[in-house]
Amino acid sequence: MLLVLSFGTAVGILPFSIYRALQQDWYVAILDLIVVIGMSFIFIYVYKTNKVKNASLVLILLALMANVISFYMKGISQVGWIYPAMLAAYYIMSPKKGLFVNFIMLSFYIPKLIQSQEVINLSTILVTIVITNMIAYVFASGLRKQELMLTKLASEDYLTGTGNRRALSTKLESLHRSLRNHDKTATIVLLDLDHFKKVNDKHGHIKGDEVLIRIAEILKCFYQNEEMIFRYGGEEFLILCPNVNIDMAFNLGEQLREMIKQNIIIDGHEQTISLGVAEYVKEESNDDWIHRVDLALYQAKNQGRDRIIKA
Ligand code: GH3
Ligand code: MG
Ligand code: MG
Repeated sequence: MLLVLSFGTAVGILPFSIYRALQQDWYVAILDLIVVIGMSFIFIYVYKTNKVKNASLVLILLALMANVISFYMKGISQVGWIYPAMLAAYYIMSPKKGLFVNFIMLSFYIPKLIQSQEVINLSTILVTIVITNMIAYVFASGLRKQELMLTKLASEDYLTGTGNRRALSTKLESLHRSLRNHDKTATIVLLDLDHFKKVNDKHGHIKGDEVLIRIAEILKCFYQNEEMIFRYGGEEFLILCPNVNIDMAFNLGEQLREMIKQNIIIDGHEQTISLGVAEYVKEESNDDWIHRVDLALYQAKNQGRDRIIKA
């Protein structure tokens, strides 16, 4: 969106800049040229770096500044530019920020509009601006809600509300990138419910589901950073612990194991878990890291379950 807006604005304003220069209207020609150059820089920056946050702010500030200055220099003939600039604010920012920026923009226009326009003209301009903002705000809010819902659906496990495998893959990639580039550490915890098949067989699948939901709730309370808890398999959960070394993760895991054992009791029978923990080793791939934690969990199972093993 930012690429389209910056490119479109640069190409759209360039002819105006040339026309103003041919008319020897130098101030406006230079102002238009600044916008063209600014938008071209934004286009190149976003194209090369893929970073949009700062660029979108610069784009909106540039549009706002150019709009206001040209309005004060050339008067009412420039008022039409306010509409695309206001719509662009909703495309680039959240609806609330867009509304705020547009309100600021309008407050720059109002003194000169009041000074220079008859009441009927002033009312027409203000009412059309308000209606444009209302339509854009409602549309942008709806779009934003849908976007948030889709992101949630695509990244969350339906049963437990923890992250799914897709979310894990994205988070793990970005964690791995930051571990490679900085001198930081992180530990993966992998846990699996012991003899969970028996719970399903004895108490039914619905009871089994309830147990998984309860365990996920305990994990969210225990690790707090909900974004880092994932349902890795049917009855397996994986937790990414940035800035946590293996000893810290081991001690936390021990406490978690005890807590689940004491809190999840089905028909007088304690539900236990087995865990593996693996700290990131410099230069290893994500697959190797996961493989090591998987082996540690496998050992915990082999050594009798209800225990935690360091990779
Ligand atoms: P182990 O201690 O070796 O891990 O034994 P286990 O019985 O937990 O492991 P196994 O892999 O044999 O069985 C896993 C069970 O988890 C089988 C499956 O019915 C159950 N399970 C997986 N996903 C779900 C789910 O979404 N809901 C319910 N209720 N059960 C599930
Ligand atoms: Mg199991
Ligand atoms: Mg399993």
